[in-house]
Amino acid sequence: MTAFRGTQPLLHALDEAPLARGEVAIVGAGPGDPGLLTLRALSMLQQADCLVFDRLVSEEILAMARPEARRYYVGKASRCHALTQSETNALLVRLASEGQRVLRLKGGDPFIFGRGGEEAEHLVEHGVGFRVVPGITSAAGCASYAGFPLTHRDYAQSVTFVTGHSKGDRDLELNWAALAVPHHTTVFYMGLANAELICHKLQYHGMPAETPVALIERGTTPHQRHVVATLGNLVEVIEREGFRPPTLIVVGEVVRLADTLAPGMTTMSRAESEERVAAPELRKVAR
Ligand code: SAH
Repeated sequence: MTAFRGTQPLLHALDEAPLARGEVAIVGAGPGDPGLLTLRALSMLQQADCLVFDRLVSEEILAMARPEARRYYVGKASRCHALTQSETNALLVRLASEGQRVLRLKGGDPFIFGRGGEEAEHLVEHGVGFRVVPGITSAAGCASYAGFPLTHRDYAQSVTFVTGHSKGDRDLELNWAALAVPHHTTVFYMGLANAELICHKLQYHGMPAETPVALIERGTTPHQRHVVATLGNLVEVIEREGFRPPTLIVVGEVVRLADTLAPGMTTMSRAESEERVAAPELRKVAR
Protein backbone atom coordinates (compact mmCIF):
# COMPACT_ATOMS: atom_id res chain seq x y z
CA MET A 1 0.00 0.00 0.00
CA THR A 2 2.88 2.38 0.66
CA ALA A 3 3.33 2.84 -3.09
CA PHE A 4 -0.04 4.63 -3.12
CA ARG A 5 0.50 6.88 -0.10
CA GLY A 6 -0.36 10.46 -0.96
CA THR A 7 -3.36 11.15 -3.17
CA GLN A 8 -1.62 12.63 -6.20
CA PRO A 9 -0.09 9.51 -7.82
CA LEU A 10 -3.28 7.53 -7.33
CA LEU A 11 -5.55 10.35 -8.54
CA HIS A 12 -3.39 10.74 -11.57
CA ALA A 13 -3.36 7.01 -12.32
CA LEU A 14 -7.14 6.82 -11.98
CA ASP A 15 -7.80 9.99 -13.95
CA GLU A 16 -10.54 11.01 -11.55
CA ALA A 17 -11.83 14.32 -10.27
CA PRO A 18 -10.80 14.94 -6.67
CA LEU A 19 -13.51 14.55 -4.05
CA ALA A 20 -14.98 18.04 -3.71
CA ARG A 21 -15.89 19.93 -0.56
CA GLY A 22 -19.54 19.26 0.20
CA GLU A 23 -19.55 16.06 -1.87
CA VAL A 24 -20.37 12.57 -0.59
CA ALA A 25 -18.66 9.43 -1.91
CA ILE A 26 -20.76 6.31 -1.28
CA VAL A 27 -18.12 3.62 -1.40
CA GLY A 28 -18.07 -0.16 -1.15
CA ALA A 29 -15.30 -1.43 1.10
CA GLY A 30 -15.62 -5.06 -0.01
CA PRO A 31 -16.25 -8.02 2.28
CA GLY A 32 -13.37 -7.51 4.71
CA ASP A 33 -9.96 -8.37 3.25
CA PRO A 34 -8.29 -4.98 2.62
CA GLY A 35 -6.77 -6.48 -0.52
CA LEU A 36 -10.26 -6.52 -2.03
CA LEU A 37 -10.67 -2.77 -1.79
CA THR A 38 -10.76 -1.06 -5.19
CA LEU A 39 -8.14 1.55 -6.08
CA ARG A 40 -10.90 4.13 -6.34
CA ALA A 41 -12.09 3.29 -2.82
CA LEU A 42 -8.52 3.73 -1.58
CA SER A 43 -8.31 7.05 -3.35
CA MET A 44 -11.53 8.23 -1.65
CA LEU A 45 -10.18 7.04 1.73
CA GLN A 46 -7.10 9.16 1.21
CA GLN A 47 -9.10 12.29 0.40
CA ALA A 48 -12.06 12.32 2.78
CA ASP A 49 -12.33 14.70 5.74
CA CYS A 50 -14.74 12.38 7.52
CA LEU A 51 -15.83 8.74 7.38
CA VAL A 52 -19.34 7.52 8.04
CA PHE A 53 -19.05 3.74 8.31
CA ASP A 54 -20.91 0.56 9.21
CA ARG A 55 -20.15 -2.40 11.42
CA LEU A 56 -18.93 -4.46 8.45
CA VAL A 57 -16.02 -2.16 7.60
CA SER A 58 -12.81 -3.51 9.11
CA GLU A 59 -10.36 -1.52 11.22
CA GLU A 60 -7.58 -2.33 8.74
CA ILE A 61 -9.53 -0.52 6.03
CA LEU A 62 -10.37 2.46 8.25
CA ALA A 63 -6.65 2.71 9.02
CA MET A 64 -6.03 3.58 5.35
CA ALA A 65 -7.90 6.88 5.75
CA ARG A 66 -6.15 10.15 6.51
CA PRO A 67 -5.28 10.05 10.21
CA GLU A 68 -7.05 13.37 10.81
CA ALA A 69 -10.32 12.23 9.18
CA ARG A 70 -13.17 12.24 11.68
CA ARG A 71 -14.98 8.93 12.15
CA TYR A 72 -18.72 8.46 12.58
CA TYR A 73 -19.85 4.92 13.38
CA VAL A 74 -23.45 4.38 12.32
CA GLY A 75 -23.71 0.70 13.24
CA LYS A 76 -26.35 -1.61 11.83
CA ALA A 77 -26.57 -5.07 13.19
CA SER A 78 -30.02 -6.56 12.75
CA ARG A 79 -32.31 -5.11 15.44
CA CYS A 80 -29.45 -3.04 16.90
CA HIS A 81 -28.89 0.19 15.01
CA ALA A 82 -26.45 2.75 16.39
CA LEU A 83 -28.28 5.33 14.27
CA THR A 84 -31.57 4.93 12.47
CA GLN A 85 -31.45 5.13 8.69
CA SER A 86 -33.02 8.59 8.71
CA GLU A 87 -30.44 9.79 11.25
CA THR A 88 -27.66 8.47 9.01
CA ASN A 89 -29.23 10.22 6.01
CA ALA A 90 -29.43 13.46 7.97
CA LEU A 91 -25.81 13.12 9.16
CA LEU A 92 -24.58 12.80 5.56
CA VAL A 93 -26.45 15.94 4.52
CA ARG A 94 -25.19 17.88 7.55
CA LEU A 95 -21.53 16.93 7.03
CA ALA A 96 -21.73 17.77 3.33
CA SER A 97 -23.42 21.11 4.02
CA GLU A 98 -20.54 21.97 6.37
CA GLY A 99 -18.31 21.73 3.30
CA GLN A 100 -16.65 18.45 4.26
CA ARG A 101 -15.52 15.79 1.83
CA VAL A 102 -17.62 12.91 3.11
CA LEU A 103 -16.85 9.23 2.68
CA ARG A 104 -19.83 6.95 3.27
CA LEU A 105 -18.10 3.59 3.57
CA LYS A 106 -20.14 0.39 3.44
CA GLY A 107 -19.32 -3.30 3.61
CA GLY A 108 -19.37 -5.13 0.28
CA ASP A 109 -21.13 -3.19 -2.46
CA PRO A 110 -23.18 -0.14 -1.42
CA PHE A 111 -25.98 -0.95 -3.86
CA ILE A 112 -26.42 -4.59 -2.83
CA PHE A 113 -28.45 -4.76 0.39
CA GLY A 114 -26.42 -1.80 1.57
CA ARG A 115 -29.12 0.91 1.61
CA GLY A 116 -26.87 2.94 -0.66
CA GLY A 117 -29.91 3.58 -2.84
CA GLU A 118 -31.89 5.06 0.04
CA GLU A 119 -29.01 7.33 1.02
CA ALA A 120 -28.47 8.43 -2.57
CA GLU A 121 -32.19 9.30 -2.88
CA HIS A 122 -31.93 11.42 0.26
CA LEU A 123 -28.85 13.24 -1.07
CA VAL A 124 -30.65 14.01 -4.32
CA GLU A 125 -33.64 15.38 -2.38
CA HIS A 126 -31.30 17.71 -0.49
CA GLY A 127 -29.26 18.80 -3.48
CA VAL A 128 -26.03 17.17 -2.26
CA GLY A 129 -23.68 15.96 -5.00
CA PHE A 130 -22.41 12.42 -4.65
CA ARG A 131 -20.55 9.66 -6.45
CA VAL A 132 -20.83 5.89 -6.00
CA VAL A 133 -17.87 3.53 -5.99
CA PRO A 134 -18.92 -0.12 -6.26
CA GLY A 135 -17.30 -2.76 -4.10
CA ILE A 136 -16.90 -6.52 -4.19
CA THR A 137 -20.08 -7.88 -2.72
CA SER A 138 -19.72 -10.48 0.03
CA ALA A 139 -21.27 -13.25 -2.10
CA ALA A 140 -18.46 -12.92 -4.63
CA GLY A 141 -15.72 -12.54 -2.02
CA CYS A 142 -16.92 -15.28 0.31
CA ALA A 143 -17.53 -17.89 -2.39
CA SER A 144 -14.07 -17.36 -3.85
CA TYR A 145 -12.38 -17.50 -0.46
CA ALA A 146 -14.39 -20.57 0.54
CA GLY A 147 -13.23 -22.27 -2.64
CA PHE A 148 -16.28 -22.54 -4.92
CA PRO A 149 -17.70 -20.55 -7.86
CA LEU A 150 -21.24 -19.17 -7.81
CA THR A 151 -21.93 -20.41 -11.32
CA HIS A 152 -20.42 -23.30 -13.26
CA ARG A 153 -21.54 -24.64 -16.61
CA ASP A 154 -22.19 -28.12 -15.12
CA TYR A 155 -23.90 -27.09 -11.87
CA ALA A 156 -25.55 -23.66 -11.99
CA GLN A 157 -26.42 -21.39 -14.89
CA SER A 158 -27.79 -18.61 -12.72
CA VAL A 159 -27.38 -17.06 -9.31
CA THR A 160 -29.75 -14.97 -7.19
CA PHE A 161 -28.80 -12.66 -4.33
CA VAL A 162 -31.64 -12.54 -1.83
CA THR A 163 -32.18 -10.81 1.47
CA GLY A 164 -33.08 -13.21 4.25
CA HIS A 165 -34.39 -10.35 6.35
CA SER A 166 -37.31 -8.09 5.57
CA LYS A 167 -37.79 -4.44 6.32
CA GLY A 168 -39.24 -3.78 9.76
CA ASP A 169 -39.16 -7.48 10.77
CA ARG A 170 -42.05 -8.33 8.50
CA ASP A 171 -42.41 -11.94 7.34
CA LEU A 172 -39.98 -12.90 4.63
CA GLU A 173 -41.96 -13.05 1.41
CA LEU A 174 -39.99 -14.30 -1.54
CA ASN A 175 -40.75 -16.04 -4.80
CA TRP A 176 -39.71 -19.39 -3.32
CA ALA A 177 -40.75 -21.43 -6.34
CA ALA A 178 -38.37 -19.41 -8.53
CA LEU A 179 -35.49 -20.09 -6.13
CA ALA A 180 -36.17 -23.80 -5.70
CA VAL A 181 -35.12 -24.73 -9.22
CA PRO A 182 -32.27 -27.02 -10.30
CA HIS A 183 -28.98 -25.67 -11.70
CA HIS A 184 -29.35 -22.48 -9.74
CA THR A 185 -27.43 -20.92 -6.83
CA THR A 186 -29.15 -18.78 -4.21
CA VAL A 187 -27.18 -16.59 -1.83
CA PHE A 188 -29.03 -15.39 1.26
CA TYR A 189 -27.65 -12.26 2.88
CA MET A 190 -28.74 -11.65 6.52
CA GLY A 191 -30.38 -15.07 6.50
CA LEU A 192 -29.38 -16.64 9.83
CA ALA A 193 -32.46 -15.62 11.80
CA ASN A 194 -34.74 -16.99 9.07
CA ALA A 195 -32.74 -20.15 8.30
CA GLU A 196 -35.53 -22.44 9.42
CA LEU A 197 -38.07 -20.72 7.20
CA ILE A 198 -35.64 -20.72 4.25
CA CYS A 199 -35.03 -24.48 4.55
CA HIS A 200 -38.72 -25.21 4.99
CA LYS A 201 -39.85 -23.11 2.02
CA LEU A 202 -37.20 -24.41 -0.39
CA GLN A 203 -38.00 -28.03 0.49
CA TYR A 204 -41.73 -27.37 0.29
CA HIS A 205 -41.16 -26.10 -3.26
CA GLY A 206 -39.31 -29.28 -4.21
CA MET A 207 -35.65 -28.98 -3.33
CA PRO A 208 -34.21 -32.19 -1.89
CA ALA A 209 -33.16 -32.23 1.78
CA GLU A 210 -29.65 -33.28 0.65
CA THR A 211 -29.10 -30.05 -1.31
CA PRO A 212 -25.75 -28.69 -0.10
CA VAL A 213 -25.68 -25.37 1.75
CA ALA A 214 -22.55 -23.41 2.65
CA LEU A 215 -22.38 -21.21 5.71
CA ILE A 216 -19.61 -18.63 5.53
CA GLU A 217 -19.02 -16.39 8.53
CA ARG A 218 -16.80 -13.26 8.36
CA GLY A 219 -15.68 -14.33 4.92
CA THR A 220 -12.36 -13.08 3.47
CA THR A 221 -11.15 -12.00 6.93
CA PRO A 222 -8.61 -13.91 9.04
CA HIS A 223 -11.64 -15.11 11.08
CA GLN A 224 -13.42 -16.72 8.15
CA ARG A 225 -15.27 -19.90 9.00
CA HIS A 226 -16.96 -22.13 6.43
CA VAL A 227 -19.03 -25.26 6.92
CA VAL A 228 -21.06 -27.25 4.42
CA ALA A 229 -24.46 -28.46 5.65
CA THR A 230 -27.65 -29.50 3.82
CA LEU A 231 -31.14 -28.06 3.62
CA GLY A 232 -32.15 -30.90 5.94
CA ASN A 233 -29.72 -30.13 8.77
CA LEU A 234 -28.86 -26.43 8.32
CA VAL A 235 -30.65 -25.16 11.41
CA GLU A 236 -29.05 -27.80 13.61
CA VAL A 237 -25.58 -26.99 12.20
CA ILE A 238 -26.06 -23.22 12.72
CA GLU A 239 -27.00 -23.84 16.35
CA ARG A 240 -24.35 -26.45 17.05
CA GLU A 241 -21.52 -24.44 15.49
CA GLY A 242 -22.77 -21.11 16.84
CA PHE A 243 -22.76 -19.18 13.55
CA ARG A 244 -23.24 -15.44 14.02
CA PRO A 245 -23.65 -12.50 11.62
CA PRO A 246 -22.12 -11.59 9.30
CA THR A 247 -22.79 -14.95 7.67
CA LEU A 248 -23.85 -15.84 4.15
CA ILE A 249 -25.98 -18.87 3.33
CA VAL A 250 -25.31 -20.28 -0.14
CA VAL A 251 -27.67 -22.94 -1.48
CA GLY A 252 -26.80 -25.03 -4.52
CA GLU A 253 -24.67 -27.77 -6.02
CA VAL A 254 -21.74 -25.39 -6.69
CA VAL A 255 -20.97 -25.55 -2.97
CA ARG A 256 -19.64 -29.11 -3.42
CA LEU A 257 -16.91 -27.83 -5.74
CA ALA A 258 -14.97 -26.56 -2.71
CA ASP A 259 -13.84 -30.14 -2.11
CA THR A 260 -12.20 -30.23 -5.53
CA LEU A 261 -10.98 -26.66 -5.83
CA ALA A 262 -9.99 -25.56 -2.33
CA PRO A 263 -6.99 -27.90 -1.95
CA GLY A 264 -5.42 -26.27 -5.01
CA MET A 265 -6.17 -22.68 -4.05
CA THR A 266 -3.14 -20.80 -2.83
CA THR A 267 -5.34 -17.80 -1.98
CA MET A 268 -7.33 -19.53 0.78
CA SER A 269 -7.14 -17.52 3.99
CA ARG A 270 -4.75 -19.06 6.49
CA ALA A 271 -7.47 -19.47 9.11
CA GLU A 272 -9.62 -21.32 6.61
CA SER A 273 -6.95 -23.77 5.47
CA GLU A 274 -5.96 -24.45 9.08
CA GLU A 275 -9.57 -25.19 9.91
CA ARG A 276 -9.78 -27.61 7.02
CA VAL A 277 -6.67 -29.41 8.13
CA ALA A 278 -7.71 -29.39 11.78
CA ALA A 279 -11.32 -30.42 11.38
CA PRO A 280 -12.00 -32.46 8.25
CA GLU A 281 -14.39 -34.63 10.29
CA LEU A 282 -16.50 -31.56 11.18
CA ARG A 283 -17.17 -30.93 7.52
CA LYS A 284 -18.24 -34.53 7.03
CA VAL A 285 -20.57 -34.49 10.02
CA ALA A 286 -22.12 -31.22 8.93
CA ARG A 287 -22.92 -32.64 5.54
N1 SAH B 1 -23.58 -4.50 0.98
C1 SAH B 1 -23.13 -5.76 1.55
C2 SAH B 1 -24.25 -6.52 2.21
C3 SAH B 1 -24.83 -5.83 3.43
S1 SAH B 1 -26.09 -6.77 4.18
C4 SAH B 1 -22.48 -6.59 0.43
O1 SAH B 1 -22.53 -6.22 -0.73
O2 SAH B 1 -21.89 -7.61 0.77
C5 SAH B 1 -25.21 -7.56 5.49
C6 SAH B 1 -25.07 -9.04 5.24
O3 SAH B 1 -24.09 -9.27 4.24
C7 SAH B 1 -24.59 -9.84 6.43
O4 SAH B 1 -25.65 -10.15 7.32
C8 SAH B 1 -24.07 -11.09 5.76
O5 SAH B 1 -25.13 -11.94 5.36
C9 SAH B 1 -23.44 -10.51 4.50
N2 SAH B 1 -22.01 -10.25 4.67
C10 SAH B 1 -21.37 -9.08 4.52
N3 SAH B 1 -20.05 -9.23 4.70
C11 SAH B 1 -19.84 -10.54 4.97
C12 SAH B 1 -18.70 -11.32 5.24
N4 SAH B 1 -17.48 -10.79 5.28
N5 SAH B 1 -18.86 -12.65 5.47
C13 SAH B 1 -20.09 -13.21 5.43
N6 SAH B 1 -21.21 -12.52 5.17
C14 SAH B 1 -21.09 -11.21 4.94
